[in-house]
Amino acid sequence: METTKLQKSVESRGWSFKSFATGAEAAEYLTGELAGETVGIGGCGTAEAIGLYDRLKAVCPDVAWHWKEEDMYAARVRAMRGDAYVCSANAVAETGEIVNIDGMGNRLAATLFGHKRVYIIAGRNKLCPDLDAAIYRARNVAAPLRARSMNKKTPCAVGELKCHDCRAPERVCCGMTILMYKMMGMEKCELIMIDEDLGM
Ligand code: SF4
Repeated sequence: METTKLQKSVESRGWSFKSFATGAEAAEYLTGELAGETVGIGGCGTAEAIGLYDRLKAVCPDVAWHWKEEDMYAARVRAMRGDAYVCSANAVAETGEIVNIDGMGNRLAATLFGHKRVYIIAGRNKLCPDLDAAIYRARNVAAPLRARSMNKKTPCAVGELKCHDCRAPERVCCGMTILMYKMMGMEKCELIMIDEDLGM
């Protein structure tokens, strides 16, 4: 994975940048970064794939992740209040923008406000040449795959795997964020790229 251009773009937008060959290395780095902190995690196949939750649980006073808790809504709310927040991206543009689409919006909201630090972890499969391509990927690859994995009754899940801009009651795309610069008031926003295919 070539990240020279991406690193320059991201750092010019006030973000920190790290790159790792494997998810295991990224998980080890994040465990060191977040030890002793309260942490929220967004719905994130990448975090699951790299075993982040168990590692953080061993060193953090609280790790809120709705994928691991019975009361999913309460976990989402608690995740909004942690010192730090970790989630993935639906797409990362080499020009430095980070694109995410949510149904409920907890992940989008958490990357915009309320934390001292935000970490976005992304596999190489999320990397796109520019913002248009990143938005295209988020809408036509990540979101349909997500809808399909959740067995939603949406045209992208039951038919051709692309976005039909549906009006289905089970639509999973209700909001989209484009992170363009480190959010004002946050201590640190960091993009962590992993040279493996991870997440959707
Ligand atoms: S808007 Fe509808 S069709 Fe498009 S990706 Fe989202 S759920 Fe699928």
